[in-house]
Amino acid sequence: MAHRRLQKGYVHVYTGNGKGKTTAALGLALRAIGHGCRVFMLQFMKGSKEYGEVQAAEKYLPDLVIVQSGLETFVDKDNPSPEDMRLAREGLELARRVIREGNYDLVILDEINVAVDFKLIPLEDVLDLIHTKPAHVELVLTGRYAHPAIIRAADIVTEMNLIDHPYYHGVEAREGIEY
Ligand code: ATP
Ligand code: MG
Repeated sequence: MAHRRLQKGYVHVYTGNGKGKTTAALGLALRAIGHGCRVFMLQFMKGSKEYGEVQAAEKYLPDLVIVQSGLETFVDKDNPSPEDMRLAREGLELARRVIREGNYDLVILDEINVAVDFKLIPLEDVLDLIHTKPAHVELVLTGRYAHPAIIRAADIVTEMNLIDHPYYHGVEAREGIEY
């Protein structure tokens, strides 16, 4: 496999209740692409092309591949639908394959921490994926409620701390900013 930009890939976790986890991962993607890296992002629990990053990647960024593995509707934590479960497991399978094949320098598993917290996918499988990844693949796991074992397994851990957000002042999600 000729394409290999990073010598050693680290594992990042972006968690916490403040805004900026998914967009931090996308910022890293942009930076990596600028240096010739190829980036794969799997978005768990999301299934809408409305996201600006999905449209931007399709239109302008051939080195950023984004696959969504979720429904357009929110997952009910206490009662996830069989379709939610199926899509999350399929997403994990695809992520595993993509990471193992090693053709992407940076792999972002967006909202995977929430998928684990909601029990859509097993914690053990995510830990296994972290521990068995090819050495050169940089891996980013985003989402609230990161499990302590995932945090322990990671090298770079950042918690976005909520101080304020327009949502708490009655402002709806804004196109181009929230999605
Ligand atoms: P972003 O995608 O903007 O980087 P995020 O990944 O940190 O945000 P998530 O926990 O994935 O945030 O939340 C998903 C959505 O909720 C996004 O549209 C995000 O902008 C918005 N959001 C993030 N933090 C908050 C918050 N504290 N209160 C309300 N909405 C939020
Ligand atoms: Mg997010």
